Amino acid sequence: MILCLATNNQHKVEELQALLGSRYELKTLSDIGCFDDIPETENTFQGNSRQKAVFVRERFGINCIADDSGLEVEALNGEPGVFSARYAGEHGNHDKNNVLLLKNLEGVENRSAQFRCVITLILGDDIHQFDGIIRGTILHEKRGKEGFGYDPLFVPDGYTRTFAEMGLEEKNPISHRGLAVQKLIDFLDSLVLS
Ligand code: IMP
Repeated sequence: MILCLATNNQHKVEELQALLGSRYELKTLSDIGCFDDIPETENTFQGNSRQKAVFVRERFGINCIADDSGLEVEALNGEPGVFSARYAGEHGNHDKNNVLLLKNLEGVENRSAQFRCVITLILGDDIHQFDGIIRGTILHEKRGKEGFGYDPLFVPDGYTRTFAEMGLEEKNPISHRGLAVQKLIDFLDSLVLS
């Protein structure tokens, strides 16, 4: 079965393709001729990942998978949430986002936070969602060079190192994205078996 993964990140596609095996063939957005700026205007991860998947399904008539993820900080009432990528204004400026996060947490004792990922799968007329959450703590300064985004500030519960001090082989199985992807894979595998 052909499925579009609503991304142009070839690395993400290869990673998921390896996990899915040959029963599913993944395509990127450019593979299916989608060069649109897909709207992400909802105020939840569920809403945004669904909006992206529905956009692709409706415009291109293809079964698809879309994800949305970010960081939710308890003392900031869930911020940056769906604004994680552009918290400091400029999309994808991780350094500025981390600086702003630390500024907003100055003097705050409660450093609890979680990463959340929601994946939407559209198969024909059916919509399925899978989520993954990893809880942890926000440090007072960055540590580590791996990963991206808020990784240098985030220590998952039960660990002493930040995500940015872990390799992908250690981060992936416990991360919000890894957990959601595992649920998606289990579901797709169950379809093949049934
Ligand atoms: P996206 O949904 O994967 O594009 O992620 C949106 C934003 O959330 C990213 O730009 C990061 O700021 C943040 N984020 C999501 N997942 C992670 C993660 O695993 N580590 C660090 N930051 C993340």
